[in-house]
Parts: sequence; C-alpha cells; structure tokens
Amino acid sequence: MILSPSRGETCDHCLAVTVSIQDAEPWCPHCEWNLDRYEPARRPPEFGWRWIDRRTHRLAYRLTRDQFDALVADGIDRRGPALARVVTIGASLLLLVGVVLVAAFGVWLVVHDFPSLTIPFGLAALGLAVVLRPRFGRLDESAYVLDRDQTPSLFDLVDEVARAIGAPAPDVVAVNDDFNAYATSIGLRRARVLCIGLPLWGALPAQERVALLGHELAHFVNGDVRRLLLTQPAFTMLGTAADLVRPVSTFALPQSALMGWAGELLAEIVQRVLARLLFTVHVVLVAVGLRDAQRAEYLADELAAEAAGSAAAVNLLDTLLIGETMEMVVRRDARAGHGPDQWRRSSEQARTSAGPILPALRQLSLRDQASLFATHPPPGLRARMIQERTAQGPAVALDQARLERIDSELARHYDRTVRNISWGG
Ligand SMILES: [Zn+2]
Ligand SMILES: [Zn+2]
Repeated sequence: MILSPSRGETCDHCLAVTVSIQDAEPWCPHCEWNLDRYEPARRPPEFGWRWIDRRTHRLAYRLTRDQFDALVADGIDRRGPALARVVTIGASLLLLVGVVLVAAFGVWLVVHDFPSLTIPFGLAALGLAVVLRPRFGRLDESAYVLDRDQTPSLFDLVDEVARAIGAPAPDVVAVNDDFNAYATSIGLRRARVLCIGLPLWGALPAQERVALLGHELAHFVNGDVRRLLLTQPAFTMLGTAADLVRPVSTFALPQSALMGWAGELLAEIVQRVLARLLFTVHVVLVAVGLRDAQRAEYLADELAAEAAGSAAAVNLLDTLLIGETMEMVVRRDARAGHGPDQWRRSSEQARTSAGPILPALRQLSLRDQASLFATHPPPGLRARMIQERTAQGPAVALDQARLERIDSELARHYDRTVRNISWGG
C-alpha cells in the first residue's frame, strides 16, 4: 500500500496537506474534509442504483459519526436504546403472528371442502410458512467443539477474562479455520457459544488474544438486541424473505408434484408483491437493529480494554484494519507447513511495515466501511473510541509461557487448520 503525501493539494477548510492511500480520493487528515466521499469503485453496491447508494452512504456516514460523538459525550450504556428493542421485538411478534396466519390459511385451503382444487394453494402456503419459520441458530458445521480436559489452559484463560469483565462463561468453546472469532447464543435455550478462528488466534500476540476474548465474551453482557430470543424473527425471518426478491431465487419451497403450477404461480405472486414489501421492512428493521448492534460493539471494545489494557485493545483493532494482509501472510506460512509461532513472526513484520500508514488507514476505514448494513462501526472509529476514554491497564496478563502452553494443547487443531487453509483459497 502506498501513502501518498498528497498531490500537492491543501484542504479547503484548514489548509492542511491532504493524504491518500492507493487510488482513494484524497482527504484532509486534520479536519477530515472529504473523508465522507462516496467512492463506488471501493465498495460493493448495496441497493444497486448508484444515486441511492450514494445517499445511503452519506446517511450511514453521518449516523455513524453522530453515534460516535453521542457515545463519547454520554458514555456507553449497557442496555441499548429502548426504541431499537421495542421496534425489533414488536416486529418479531408481528412476524410470528403473520407466519401462524399463513400456516392456518394453508391448512384451511387443504381441508376445506376436501378434496378440492385449493389443495395445491394450501400446500404452497404451508411451504411458505415452513420457509419463513423463525430460526434460533445452531453451531456452524465448520466449528470443532473443544473439551476442557484436553485444552485446560485455554478454558482457564477464558474463565479468567470472563470474570474480569463480569460476563458469564460460555457453555461451548469451539475453534474453526476463519480469520475471525465470534460469540453468539443458539437454540431455544440460548446456549452461549464462543468460537475462535485459529488462523487469527495463532497470529495474535499474547495481550491481543486477551483483548479478543474480552471483546467476544462482552457480547454476553452488552445488551446486543441480536442475541435476544424475542428478536430472532426480526433478523432471521425477514432475511429469508429478502432472499425472495433476489433476481436468481433461492426460494426453497418444497417442490412436489402435488403443488404443480398453482404452487409456482403463488410463489411468483409472493415474490413480486409481498416480498418487495417484506424487503423494505427488512431494510428498515436491520438498519434500526444494526445501529444498536454498533453501540454494543463499542461497549464490547471497552470491556476488551478493561480485560487486556487499552493499548492491546487498540492494537487488536489495527490488526483488523490490515486483516486481509495478515490473512494472506498466515495462509502463505501454512502452505509452507508452518504453525502459529511462524504466523506470529510474519504478522509482526506485516504490522511493522504498515505502521507509518496506520493513521491514514484508520481514517479511510470510516469512508469505506460506513454502511446502513454494517454490523460493526469502522475499526478506525472503534480504536478512536478506546483512545477517547481513560486509558486502562490490563486486568488479565498473559505471559509467553502460558501462551505457548495454550498453543501446545491446541496442536492437533492447529495441524488440521494448517491442512485446511493451505488447500482452500
Ligand atoms: Zn482540513
Ligand atoms: Zn463484536
């Protein structure tokens, strides 16, 4: 990546010299003039019409910055705004009622005047209800569940970090091959799951691992509306409904000869009319829900700083900024048969060489990652939020010996990850 010290231009507002990275339009590093610029070449289309995408980008940029300013001024509340919760829970209840009505209508069409020509319509309606049923999530298939007996050091660390931030310990700890980590709740009983991507875990230095655990475990206490049982329909059912309007339909009605043309006709009507309506509502709900999700991410970062210290929490976010490069480096090492010790050395080099452009990368993340559909605030703003707060020292310190013990207990899993990621991609 190239940080060009401007094209000899100065900011319109404060006369500072503008900066740019690669082909990005220049902006002012001092007052951030022109940072909100919409650059279609640097982001995937969202609605598909450029004039709408430009406006929604501008709106998202403004909402993101306003939220940041408000949270800096007022502090981050553990429970989100009541409005986001009320809207999502209300919508979820309405959706549940809607699906029950569609199912009941289907049953009525089938049994009414049995047998009659309405049977295929009834089956189609029942199929629709099945497709739209609420889902409560389950463990993804690529995750390997860990056993405390075999990886006691990792479990001890997880417990220690959870205690430090006042979060409950997860019910399930798993690993997978992603350059990522997540915490979620699954099933009707909302079992708490922590899943750690080994390529990321192995590449992180000790204290950033603590920050990563702190951030993820914080999701069990940050009041994120996405985790509530009652809000699942709002996020999942309408997501399914949104699939209905995609040009290539992934609409998975159980196709049987019984439903025949009538079912298809009904499906098409649903696609054309109802789905568009649902999609619009989905967009609004997701936008409302995700505003609150972004607040929850800031709070998770704050708890990560509490566990690992502010410096490590900021470093972790900078790692995310150059995530693509880091992922490439880890994959390259894995192909050469190397494990986590080498990943850490290579990642350290990648970070050192990105050092001089980090401030610009942080700023550019605001332009590139502001979106109505973003689940997270831009990493640059997240780092800035931690720096705005009182600096914290680490509550949990992970030394090198313990890090190595954790990794040696995970050896078998690292071997599998090395095999998997050197074949894939
Ligand atoms: Zn300026
Ligand atoms: Zn998070």
